[in-house]
Amino acid sequence: MTAISRALSEHISLESGVRIARLSKDGTKWQLTDTDGQHYDGFDQVVITAPPAQAQDLLRDSGLEPLAEGLAEHVGNILPCWAVAAHFNRPVDFPFDAVRPNSDVLFWVANNSSKPGREDEGQWWVLHANPEWTYQHVDDAPESIAEAFLAEFRALTGHEDAADDWVPHRWLYARSEAGDNPGYLFDPKTGIGLAGDWLAGGRVEGAWESASQLVQVMADSPEQ
Ligand SMILES: Cc1cc2nc3c(=O)[nH]c(=O)nc-3n(C[C@H](O)[C@H](O)[C@H](O)COP(=O)(O)OP(=O)(O)OC[C@H]3O[C@@H](n4cnc5c(N)ncnc54)[C@H](O)[C@@H]3O)c2cc1C
Repeated sequence: MTAISRALSEHISLESGVRIARLSKDGTKWQLTDTDGQHYDGFDQVVITAPPAQAQDLLRDSGLEPLAEGLAEHVGNILPCWAVAAHFNRPVDFPFDAVRPNSDVLFWVANNSSKPGREDEGQWWVLHANPEWTYQHVDDAPESIAEAFLAEFRALTGHEDAADDWVPHRWLYARSEAGDNPGYLFDPKTGIGLAGDWLAGGRVEGAWESASQLVQVMADSPEQ
């Protein structure tokens, strides 16, 4: 999922591995301060693309309480999701590359190796849990999550081989429950905009659509 943003950002100056702790006004411009105390100066407008809980913390720590409060509903709507990527040396004999199984455990099962441009040895399958199941198991050990997922995957596909590698990921800010889908949020008074998949129906295309709409509105907004 990071391939798109890596390709899009090739021609811009990008500081990765930096956590912004605070936004502050330096005259008419925004200044950003990271968790090491480093400053980034001179911005007319700011786009925040963090998930809502992290965006809310950032706004609160920047003294922007009304903007932070405006995210309360979005924060409450975000559901966590346990995910496991599992590798099988022998291709799984299953007639679908992606399914939403009728299962208490799994919500989504996809053959990642079937995506264009993949030249994997064997197959990588990506398994996502149901939100309710994730809630019940949110603090379980990754090993027991993988065990439950792989047993369910075996029952679904009939593939008896054990996975020869697997990678668990507890995705705390996964999908946005039904609710308001405004696309983006923009406060013309401060010049601060928020974009992300959680504002536009989830998934990577939601992130794209949200950001595309926001930058259009910000470009048309008079400078602060
Ligand atoms: C295991 C897994 C599998 C997935 N599979 C698919 C798939 O097959 N298809 C699909 O469409 N989508 C998939 N997704 C979902 C997809 O990755 C997301 O929809 C997409 O990444 C959302 O993009 P975003 O820019 O809104 O947010 P994110 O990608 O979550 O980016 C937010 C970024 O903000 C950063 N951040 C937070 N706080 C701060 C701060 N204070 N300072 C600086 N940075 C900060 C975070 O570190 C993060 O990098 C998957 C996700 C996971 C976890």
